Amino acid sequence: MNRDGIRKSIWQEEIRSFPDAFRFETEYDVAVVGGGITGVSTAYELQKSGKKCILIEAANVGFGTTGGTTAHINNFLDTTYSEAISKFGLDDAKLLFESAEDAIGIIEKNISENHISCDFEKRTGQLFALDEKEAKELDDILEAAGKVGCEMNLIHQISFPIPFIKAVEIPGQAQFHPIKYIDALCRSFLSLGGTVVENCFCESHSEKDGDITITTSKGIIKAKNLVYATHIPPGISMLHFTNAPYRSYAMAFTLKDGNYPEVLGYDLMDPYHYYRVQEMNGEKLLIAGGEDHKTGHSEDTGACFSNLENYIRRYFDVDVVRYSWSSQYYEPVDSLPYIGKLPGTFRVFTATGFRGNGMIFGTLSSRIISELILTGNSKYFRLFSPSRITPIAGFTEFVKENITVATDFIKDKLFVERISSLAEISEGEGKVVKYEGESYAVYKEKGGGMHLLKSACPHAKCDVRWNSAEISWDCPCHGSRFSVNGKVLTAPSVTNLTKIREKDI
Ligand SMILES: Cc1cc2nc3c(=O)[nH]c(=O)nc-3n(C[C@H](O)[C@H](O)[C@H](O)COP(=O)(O)OP(=O)(O)OC[C@H]3O[C@@H](n4cnc5c(N)ncnc54)[C@H](O)[C@@H]3O)c2cc1C
Repeated sequence: MNRDGIRKSIWQEEIRSFPDAFRFETEYDVAVVGGGITGVSTAYELQKSGKKCILIEAANVGFGTTGGTTAHINNFLDTTYSEAISKFGLDDAKLLFESAEDAIGIIEKNISENHISCDFEKRTGQLFALDEKEAKELDDILEAAGKVGCEMNLIHQISFPIPFIKAVEIPGQAQFHPIKYIDALCRSFLSLGGTVVENCFCESHSEKDGDITITTSKGIIKAKNLVYATHIPPGISMLHFTNAPYRSYAMAFTLKDGNYPEVLGYDLMDPYHYYRVQEMNGEKLLIAGGEDHKTGHSEDTGACFSNLENYIRRYFDVDVVRYSWSSQYYEPVDSLPYIGKLPGTFRVFTATGFRGNGMIFGTLSSRIISELILTGNSKYFRLFSPSRITPIAGFTEFVKENITVATDFIKDKLFVERISSLAEISEGEGKVVKYEGESYAVYKEKGGGMHLLKSACPHAKCDVRWNSAEISWDCPCHGSRFSVNGKVLTAPSVTNLTKIREKDI
């Protein structure tokens, strides 16, 4: 496994390991935890600015969602400018647009400065409404885009064989191969004198007198600044209550008729579908994504792939499915990401809540966090501050969402299948099982070997749920994910699920 799921993503074969150059005695200006687009971009930016940096990654660079993304690069966002204007006002909506433009500029600059070959291409985007309700929404999106300066034009034809009733095109979008990009950026970071340590799990940190001590699975690291680029900060933080984990599904198809759209595409369904094309080994592939749901809230994650495939086959002349994979992202309570200082700390920074725009916000984080470390300020500091107060619409919904989690937790306890014997689990299946008053996560391997774990997520004690598509245990509350052996795959948990030997039960 070199991604946090069992299925192979389209990008995965480009994942390579880095030479281990960890020197315990060295004190760093900045320790960056997490080798996704956020961590790699931030480490590169700070090292380039003269700081001595170390990048620590629990598994391998690209192991997290960056290895399972679809890598559209957009200046229009999941948070539409109409939503941004109504929640934050026109000036902040303009600043949001400016931030997306800045991020695209940073990616282009990183590519040209480092001569990175990562299949980067500018593309036009098409956004289309399938019914009257979506058409109304599209009108609002179009009007608000005009107000913030984001170019969108009405069009009467789209490049997708999908019936639509209204559509716009949005110039200035882009796409790339995310792993080729971060791999090359990471190598530039190394050549600037940076240090990369893979298979190094960050367990905790403490701050004292301006120094940070980081406890990792490979030893203690001392740094002046710490950046948690772990998609959601580990441990317990207010940010776990202002972000909800979601999963999204992606598949890559060949088409019999060869009609691959030359643009990026998005409908306005809830959840929406997203489309792009990528050439792999001389073969074009249509990548389609969708079927999003709250982590742990699908009884059968495998069915999400069937649903997506059926939907795509309805409209496209599909030949074969080459890849199918899923991954996790975070929805922030007020619809904007949290980038900046981790609440309650002095020199610890983080970035989370990117929705489906992590190429943009992960990249933007490198600018904001670098500016905060180097100068103490950034023009985006206030808009994306993790400590911002949000007395606006969205909070009530989020509270409701947390109630759902709490109810689910209780329901979980009641609904946990009461089986009298562990033998009722089929091979290749995982189940949370109630046995003599205790709750266990049980996975039976093909061939019969049993993996028994306590089902309570160590992070906040919610019961994990089985993810049959990625063969993992996923926590519905804050998104921690674990392998069938109980090993942490995804933050925020920093502790594995408790292993139980069969004879202990
Ligand atoms: C299916 C899907 C499609 C998407 N498509 C798009 C898209 O088209 N465009 C777009 O802009 N965004 C998209 N997104 C969102 C985007 O991919 C993510 O927001 C982005 O990749 C997050 O990057 P990151 O570096 O912050 O986190 P990650 O890539 O998750 O990296 C975090 C890293 O931290 C490591 N880590 C965690 N805890 C520890 C620890 N304690 N110690 C050491 N290391 C640790 C992990 O192993 C991981 O490698 C998509 C998301 C999904 C799920």
